[in-house]
Amino acid sequence: MLLEAIDIHKSYGNVQVLRGVNLQLQEAEVLSVMGASGAGKSTLLHILGTLDTPDRGQLIFEGTPLHAVSAKQLNKIRNQALGFVFQFHNLLPEFTALENAAMPALIQGIDKAEAYERAACLLEYLGVAHRAKHEPGRLSGGEAQRVAVARALVNHPRLVLADEPSGNLDEANAIHLHELFLKLREDFRTAFIIVTHHKELAKMADRGVWLNEGVIAEEWQRRFV
Ligand code: ADP
Ligand code: ADP
Repeated sequence: MLLEAIDIHKSYGNVQVLRGVNLQLQEAEVLSVMGASGAGKSTLLHILGTLDTPDRGQLIFEGTPLHAVSAKQLNKIRNQALGFVFQFHNLLPEFTALENAAMPALIQGIDKAEAYERAACLLEYLGVAHRAKHEPGRLSGGEAQRVAVARALVNHPRLVLADEPSGNLDEANAIHLHELFLKLREDFRTAFIIVTHHKELAKMADRGVWLNEGVIAEEWQRRFV
């Protein structure tokens, strides 16, 4: 098992957002998370990505209980094993696509040549190599989001957490992005947890959960026939 979340609780003030979420993710699994606006999807994704801590409950990543590791080790796991994609690409405007994609590897202390090589390969893989030298302001929405995906993958994470990654894209680009996630899973065995409002996109995953009133109210699994 790649990730296990046990009885996750989270409140903001006296608003109980998560009230006992239990979730298991297998290696290379693609999971979609749906639910009404305000259901706690982003909160859950942040907790699963160690960007936020639960008030109660446990997170176990590749067998390691995360509440028991040092802040330093948690940072290392977050930077090396996890990747993040958000609704808005959040690329740095003054850097090129290639520089943006290479940045997490450079921060990680990976050799400069290797970092740029990885970033260039990923831009090629994602079909945006011709945009490598462009700043984000000169990219289309779909291109910018693919550069953001390259950035999320440059440290070769085991799991990518994506919060409405296609929320800002038209339908064709949205489908293309989700197809890329499935291809990345096939090629690199990267797992994905994808928050989306779109039922059709959610159905592309292996499994889906529906969050309601702070718990998983429904769950479905793709049937292979
Ligand atoms: P979703 O992603 O499903 O729309 P969120 O996780 O963003 O839901 O939010 C769930 C609830 O938690 C909302 O009521 C939201 O206002 C509240 N919330 C989220 N983050 C914070 C925060 N940092 N401080 C206070 N309330 C928050
Ligand atoms: P190389 O040894 O040249 O890095 P690989 O076969 O390891 O060749 O990788 C080829 C391409 O796939 C490179 O762009 C690399 O960054 C990318 N890649 C390899 N492993 C992963 C992974 N786990 N996640 C994402 N991208 C990866």
